[in-house]
Amino acid sequence: MLTYTITRNPNPCSAAERAAVLANPGFGKHFTDHMVAIDWSKDGGWHDARVMPYGPLSLDPAASVLHYGQEIFEGIKAYRHADDSIWTFRPQANGERLQRSARRLALPELPVDEFVESLRQLVAVDGDWTPGEPETSLYFRPFMIATEAFLGVRGAHQASYHVIASPAGAYFAKGVAPVSIWLSTDYARAAKGGTGAAKCGGNYAASLLPQQQAYEQGCSQVLFLDPVEGRYLEELGGMNVFLVHRDGSIVTPEISGSILEGITRSSLLQLARDRGHRVVERKVTLDEWRDGVASGEVTEVFACGTAAVITPIGQLKGEDFSVGDINAPAGETTLALRQALTDIQYGRAEDRHGWMVKLRD
Ligand SMILES: *Cc1c(COP(=O)(O)O)cnc(C)c1O
Repeated sequence: MLTYTITRNPNPCSAAERAAVLANPGFGKHFTDHMVAIDWSKDGGWHDARVMPYGPLSLDPAASVLHYGQEIFEGIKAYRHADDSIWTFRPQANGERLQRSARRLALPELPVDEFVESLRQLVAVDGDWTPGEPETSLYFRPFMIATEAFLGVRGAHQASYHVIASPAGAYFAKGVAPVSIWLSTDYARAAKGGTGAAKCGGNYAASLLPQQQAYEQGCSQVLFLDPVEGRYLEELGGMNVFLVHRDGSIVTPEISGSILEGITRSSLLQLARDRGHRVVERKVTLDEWRDGVASGEVTEVFACGTAAVITPIGQLKGEDFSVGDINAPAGETTLALRQALTDIQYGRAEDRHGWMVKLRD
């Protein structure tokens, strides 16, 4: 394992300032006093692991990340339990996904145990930034960038990995409320053989213009279809999608090569199976959603990801149609699965699958 050097922030937030932030953290707005950094070079491998004061990075203007977008990231949370211990959820799965993303983007693979250790190191100094109110968490944003100053087109020979952390408030402050989704037919976010299955900033860059169109249509997120036929559901800009059928069966688009394999997605598939639902991963057409909601065959639709856990989808809107009722309450299965997952994450239910990892006592 790498040995860390710890440099304390000489000007950390005062306890009072921190308490004010934790009382109303929002999402992704406030950052803790420290960050993790680990450097990599082709010749030297991973080295110089450190916890250092949170602050701007210094990059050569020729660094490859700025020109060719050689960047990947993760999103994972720490949860404060009733006894004040701090835990995280399936970090090995995030570490393995970071490795798969690294392979696709020609970046170096960080060993999974070093990934988990990097979270532990940050919590050791900044764990007090983990809020304790229901549904709150400390959101980690691990990321890796190519730092070599070189304009030639090849995988960089120098990279760095960082972890920053941001306290996160309850996503649904006033109860879990359904959202409406805009169907993008002008754009795709990814194609098979591209980078859709990797968690990289470039995929998000490609989703921002359609996301803007969603806002203009009064929708909060955008749904993408498969890029070849434009018939099958892929996912939202940053969340996987599920349909619940009248008979209780639960369907989600199969991993297609262009869908990001969410850890929330895989956990919900397991919890749904545990609860006796028939669970199917297969191709799902847009018509199955559109006609199914209209006929009552599809009773609930939801999206899932680490940040919001589960977001019920009340309405789907496209150029020439709209289905669902944004004012209808969230579905029973949607809410039950959300509760089952958050009960495990917050230590309120038995962790039967061994998903939780303690970061601090
Ligand atoms: C991160 C992400 C998800 C959700 O993954 P989780 O591991 O559940 O947080 C879904 N789609 C995209 C495009 C993502 O980047």
